[in-house]
Amino acid sequence: MPVSGSEPYDLAVIGAGPAGLAGAVAAADMGLKVALLDASAHTGGQFYRTPHPALGAVRPEALHHDWSGYADLRGRLAQSRIRHLPGHHVWSVTNESADVGATWAVHAVTGADGGDGRPVRLRARAVLLATGAYERHLPIPGWTLPGVVAAGGAQAMLKSGLVLPGRRIVVAGSGPLLLAVASALAAAGARVPAVVEASGYLRYARHPRALVTNPHKSAEALVHGTALLRHRVRVRMRSAVTEVHGTDRVEAVTVTRLDKNWRPAQGAGRRIQCDALAVGHGLMPQIELATTLGCASRSLPDGTRALAVDRLQETSVRGLWAAGETGGVGGAALARTEGELAGIAAAARLLGRLAPSGRVRALQRRRDRMRAFVDVMAAAHAPGPGWSRWLTDETEVCRCEEVTAGRIREAVEDLGARDARTVKLLTRAGMGWCQGRMCGAAVACLAACGRADGLPVERRPLAVPVPLAVLAGLDDPDGKPAGAPSYRPST
Ligand SMILES: Cc1cc2nc3c(=O)[nH]c(=O)nc-3n(C[C@H](O)[C@H](O)[C@H](O)COP(=O)(O)OP(=O)(O)OC[C@H]3O[C@@H](n4cnc5c(N)ncnc54)[C@H](O)[C@@H]3O)c2cc1C
Repeated sequence: MPVSGSEPYDLAVIGAGPAGLAGAVAAADMGLKVALLDASAHTGGQFYRTPHPALGAVRPEALHHDWSGYADLRGRLAQSRIRHLPGHHVWSVTNESADVGATWAVHAVTGADGGDGRPVRLRARAVLLATGAYERHLPIPGWTLPGVVAAGGAQAMLKSGLVLPGRRIVVAGSGPLLLAVASALAAAGARVPAVVEASGYLRYARHPRALVTNPHKSAEALVHGTALLRHRVRVRMRSAVTEVHGTDRVEAVTVTRLDKNWRPAQGAGRRIQCDALAVGHGLMPQIELATTLGCASRSLPDGTRALAVDRLQETSVRGLWAAGETGGVGGAALARTEGELAGIAAAARLLGRLAPSGRVRALQRRRDRMRAFVDVMAAAHAPGPGWSRWLTDETEVCRCEEVTAGRIREAVEDLGARDARTVKLLTRAGMGWCQGRMCGAAVACLAACGRADGLPVERRPLAVPVPLAVLAGLDDPDGKPAGAPSYRPST
């Protein structure tokens, strides 16, 4: 049935990871016209990355657990009338409530990294934000050497490119992702001389209820633990990589014991030979699109910020739903549950129907059970304020703008900066291409002089880099960038 040109989509879903996929298919099953946008060329998000077909991987699912959940969603997407828009980088969502029948405009640019800069705008009556998370990085002296990669980045190299960042790889930082990364690297043939975890796992034992009600999490840890034992990988708790050594690339790292506040012990530490370091300190919800629209956020026990949502996953802004890591980092199964709940809730609202109460209650129970575990996990791996003691004045903190820890300390101690924004204005830290994604957490902590204040709420009008021509095109009286196609439902 042809659709009038002015008709918007019912629901625009941003992010085609487990949360966005589940939300899109649930809403489409109930009868909504759905557009599903993702910056990536593929569905699956961070977790279900698959090798490029040209690499000829025979069993890509071997790199994942819980593949069947993803296969089911992918199959339902293929059967549906959802308009899947891969390679679309959403840089802003704006409220267009003045328009008849449309509430939201989703602005995107296309191409790898937004490279070809073709502007796209589509309209929708409601939006589901499922933009996932990115890794938290804490700088280390020597971390700019080739061979230092993000822990999730090492896993992405393996899952998407079937390559390893080195032959002998130390995995370090904090959080359960390290166990998954180390066991995957070892199974793929890397030698992993150590997993270096800055916190410990004993704090989980203080919350037996969260453990008992989430047996799949303990089972997952057991699987990774057994794999690490089989590959003779040593796990060093309450320790950190405090220096990376090498001339042209990584040759070794120094591992130092930490106290409970992550302050490194005095002394030389232990030197471990390696040719790569995979390092990460947990994940941070990617919520810029939502906070710019005024959605309320909340602090999590690990100092990150996540969107505040109600029992049906709606944010504090009516018509904007959120699911998955945007509400706090909790894994693919939780993301799928929340996505489905949000999709059902949005469809019920737009269609003026009651949501199926039995299914909604079951999803809510599952979500609450998993979120309880997530809070325990976040508290167990919260960075202690003492980490900044392993920085020297020469350590680069902002890699894009080459701003050192010394310059940031000067801005704080001599010039009186007390927050990340003032440090940014004084030093340019966070003004480069990554817009503070690499250094933001570290700069905020250094600006707060080590106080665990949590991250400030960022309001960014542009969520991803956008060519100036696209912004200039917004002057179009119709609000449409020059040459921008407006995608319309194809039903
Ligand atoms: C680097 C990394 C590695 C991980 N490894 C593991 C692991 O080994 N095991 C595990 O259990 N969990 C892992 N996780 C967590 C796991 O990926 C998540 O729990 C799960 O994928 C969350 O699903 P999601 O749908 O909320 O987000 P994601 O899967 O992250 O999906 C979000 C999607 O949104 C898209 N997106 C974001 N911003 C935009 C934008 N502005 N415009 C368009 N598209 C956008 C992204 O391209 C992505 O496809 C990892 C996370 C990260 C960041």
